[in-house]
Amino acid sequence: MLPKLHLMFQVEIIDSVPMSHNTLLSALPAQAVVREVGLRDGLQSIATVLPTERKCAWIADAFAAGQREIEVGSFVPPRLLPQLADTAEVLAFAKTLPGLTASVLVPNLKGAERALDGDADLMILPLSASHAHSLANLRKTPDDVVDEMRRIRAARDASGKQTLIEGGVGTAFGCTIQGEVKHSEVLRLMQALLDAGADRVSLADTVGYADPVAVSRLFEQALKIAGDRFCCGHFHDTRGLALANVFAALQLGVARFDASLAGIGGCPHAPGASGNAASEDLAEVPAARGVDTGIDLPALLALRQKVVGWLAGEPTSGTLWRAGLPKTMAAVAA
Ligand code: ZN
Repeated sequence: MLPKLHLMFQVEIIDSVPMSHNTLLSALPAQAVVREVGLRDGLQSIATVLPTERKCAWIADAFAAGQREIEVGSFVPPRLLPQLADTAEVLAFAKTLPGLTASVLVPNLKGAERALDGDADLMILPLSASHAHSLANLRKTPDDVVDEMRRIRAARDASGKQTLIEGGVGTAFGCTIQGEVKHSEVLRLMQALLDAGADRVSLADTVGYADPVAVSRLFEQALKIAGDRFCCGHFHDTRGLALANVFAALQLGVARFDASLAGIGGCPHAPGASGNAASEDLAEVPAARGVDTGIDLPALLALRQKVVGWLAGEPTSGTLWRAGLPKTMAAVAA
């Protein structure tokens, strides 16, 4: 019985520490955004082509469940990603929802021009910090992508549109082709994107190599470089660490995270890689610590069930749907 008593004693001590003295939680933001990327990162990695009406129904339900930022697709050539060929139509629908920030991924200037035509609220230019991954994925070096950012910024400014530009530095924690990616190279490229005209930047663990300590170290440096212009963390759950990584970034005050409903997705260049952290699971992490996400979790869980039904046979993940919300949280919500 002694070990148990000892444990109880420890719990009591921890509980008695005032919140303001608890450095682990001191930088938690008051609010956090769960940016839905399942319609892009998720759907691009699976064989099923979801009809446009269902994508729009997904967006409408996600909006009704409180999600206010959704990546609706990608302006890549349809022959490369037939799953996302209807991005312009889906974006047009998303733009009808008041207060929704509709973003699209753009691989180059051509894609950016389509995003500007469609009045996207935000376009994200991905840059792979891994030289080898960049060549395999985009057929460009990372510094070529920085040049493309410069052209995209000039096009945006000339268009007079309000579309924001985000530079997303991917393979920030390593990659399946090259292996190690140095933090110094990630940070150099992040600074280069800002200098080339990105309104904001984000970091992505494209293949799921990060762990919470690596996240703390790299994100701390990134925040020093980009300050308020650092906007988002993007974690894949390949090794089951996505939510732990989210929490590590949340502790530094990072307040926006990409997530894919039901954890749909993977990476074409990372065999066996899992999708993003599941949106419904990720939303519970800040909520459990009192950080407001604006998300109605039961509604998001109902949407999960609907979308999983549409994607029969495709791999999905996530844990919250199995057990439901913890009773402690249900009490807080009521
Ligand atoms: Zn991703």
